[in-house]
Amino acid sequence: SARRELVAGLITDVPDWPVPGVTFKDITPLLASPGGFSAAVSELVENAPREVDVVVGAEARGFVFGAPVALALGAGFVPVRKPGKLPRTTRDQSYRLEYGEATLSVHTDAVVSGARVLVVDDVLATGGTLLATCQLLASMGATVLGTSVVLELASLGGRERLAGEGVRVDALVT
Ligand code: IMP
Repeated sequence: SARRELVAGLITDVPDWPVPGVTFKDITPLLASPGGFSAAVSELVENAPREVDVVVGAEARGFVFGAPVALALGAGFVPVRKPGKLPRTTRDQSYRLEYGEATLSVHTDAVVSGARVLVVDDVLATGGTLLATCQLLASMGATVLGTSVVLELASLGGRERLAGEGVRVDALVT
């Protein structure tokens, strides 16, 4: 669609960042464009599943897209954060990165059992972040309806990895 082409055109390649050989997809030009940001959020909203109770976004760019999607859907928003940031009792999930390990953290009372959840993020790469987020929510009794991202880096196999765990993903741009 024209809206998705607008979104795609505003995501900028940054060669050799953060390390030589890696091309980083920079979404800040998309955020800075009033029409582009609005197009991305509208597309995420229109493709969202029905009857979402809560949108979940992981720190930090998952907040930027997840919050406006939650508002438009009439859903709540729940932040998943890096460890040590949330003030009350949390449930944590560690996952492997290419080098080392990362942990995500959410308040234990952030979702009620049976809550229907949509997870939103900016970029799907290997799928580790979305998978850990979905596992965290599922372990709390939430029903993960699906995940939505602005950009999928298809060559990294994230979609297949998520599918192997029964998690569906919707991408605006691949
Ligand atoms: P994954 O866990 O390997 O799928 O990596 C996805 C996470 O890393 C997302 O939360 C993204 O914000 C971030 N990420 C990975 N690659 C990029 C990129 O090229 N541009 C922007 N964010 C990225």
